[in-house]
Amino acid sequence: MFPIDHYHRASSIEHACHLLAENPGSKLIAGGTDVLIRLREGKSGFGSLVDIHGLDELTRITHTPDGTLQIGSGVTFTRLINFLKNDGLLPALVEGASSIGGPQVRNMATLGGNICNGAPSGDSAAPLLVFDARVTLQSHRGTREVPVEEFYAGPGKVHIEDDELVTCFTINPESHQHTGSHFYKYAMRKAMDIATIGCAAACKLADNRIDSLRLAYTVAAPVPKRCRVLEQQVIGQPVSGKLIAEIASMVLEELSPRNSWRASKDFREHIIRTLADRVISEAIVRAGGQL
Ligand SMILES: Cc1cc2nc3c(=O)[nH]c(=O)nc-3n(C[C@H](O)[C@H](O)[C@H](O)COP(=O)(O)OP(=O)(O)OC[C@H]3O[C@@H](n4cnc5c(N)ncnc54)[C@H](O)[C@@H]3O)c2cc1C
Repeated sequence: MFPIDHYHRASSIEHACHLLAENPGSKLIAGGTDVLIRLREGKSGFGSLVDIHGLDELTRITHTPDGTLQIGSGVTFTRLINFLKNDGLLPALVEGASSIGGPQVRNMATLGGNICNGAPSGDSAAPLLVFDARVTLQSHRGTREVPVEEFYAGPGKVHIEDDELVTCFTINPESHQHTGSHFYKYAMRKAMDIATIGCAAACKLADNRIDSLRLAYTVAAPVPKRCRVLEQQVIGQPVSGKLIAEIASMVLEELSPRNSWRASKDFREHIIRTLADRVISEAIVRAGGQL
């Protein structure tokens, strides 16, 4: 038995906002793959639940004619992978989503839950960062939108008020069209494992020069992190093995990996450099570049 004191099932986004406002301190539950684990562990703060699992309004994916993508927070990873693969969209996000847990977890786990739990290792985080995704939040007070990058507040923490829920993630056409992207998760096992380091890159080229490069890591800092300084430094540079090697040698300047039982800081630094080379090279090739 789970120690649940109050359970409320929302019938719409508006109803969910009302339930959150009426029941301060309540936690949202979507796929439950994190929440139910916490409950089983006896963690406090999960005694009152507002259930948004499967809400129709949260499980939509829209791809408008101008190329804007809007992904509902309640979309499961299985559905997300199928939709994106079918339309040949956001390869890095397909790769991130495909690396989560196993099929049973991906059938239940949602994109919203993966970002809102604030884990520095969340496998959808780096792909969303390199596609400049924005989060839409709603409460009985109204709606607001923030870049995913600014949504992270610290390990296990995001900037969300008690009465808010995330409704969707939006990706603009210029952030994913004519772009090569790739994600790689380094973990101790091929499946059902938390990332030791995750890395995503999205790249646009013009005449085999870098028009834009977006690079993001998970588990390389207290929150999933873009390498903003490096991204600026490489604009306009011709694509070459030498450039990739330079990027790999600079990448640690903006990151702060830590020691943990899973991996040492030194080992993480080695993986970060290795993935810079591997992931950026693949993104460049997918963008039509020649190395
Ligand atoms: C066996 C197993 C393997 C796993 N493997 C991986 C893995 O490889 N990679 C990985 O990244 N994760 C992994 N996870 C973690 C988990 O599956 C993901 O984080 C998942 O995406 C969480 O989604 P959910 O819908 O189940 O979230 P829930 O458990 O329902 O919620 C998670 C958190 O987000 C909040 N929340 C949920 N939806 C919203 C919303 N719309 N608005 C605001 N807050 C919200 C909840 O209140 C809660 O704090 C694994 C979990 C298990 C049990």
